Amino acid sequence: MEKLLVSRCLLGHKVRYDGGAHGPYDLLQHWQDEGRIVALCPEVAGGLPTPRPPAEIPGGQGSNVLDGNQPVLTDLGEDVTAAFVAGAEIALRLVRQHGLRVAVLKARSPSCGNSHNYDGSFSGNLVEGEGVTAALLRRNGVQVFNEQQLSEAAAELARLEQGN
Ligand code: SF4
Repeated sequence: MEKLLVSRCLLGHKVRYDGGAHGPYDLLQHWQDEGRIVALCPEVAGGLPTPRPPAEIPGGQGSNVLDGNQPVLTDLGEDVTAAFVAGAEIALRLVRQHGLRVAVLKARSPSCGNSHNYDGSFSGNLVEGEGVTAALLRRNGVQVFNEQQLSEAAAELARLEQGN
């Protein structure tokens, strides 16, 4: 059975920066009942508390953070790059440990977002770009979906299970 990594906040765990959570999502619940899900909140795993100040990447590109070219900053300007990178590395270790090839991560998060991110101005502006964890996983061959792409993730899991 093909397993997948899932953002903990999508499973109802109150680990969002503001202490909130998301869901429930029927398909995620189904996968959890099947024992397919490896759950992680990269920011909490990286050492940040909940609740915590909101953080954004200037320019919105997690790959720039991985390459050391941009920090992750809170709205008060605190540099939280080390915790974000540590969380991404923990995600990669989990992926390798469990042989995961698919992830479903929360959209528009500076860690988990897979296609769009806030631009670092804390004004709600979105740009194309991945979060730090999403970027590291994708660099290492993981297909990263978000909670609005659950049917695509299901199709990919089925394809992998059929060995295609
Ligand atoms: Fe944690 Fe990712 Fe959810 Fe943010 S989006 S609370 S980092 S699991």
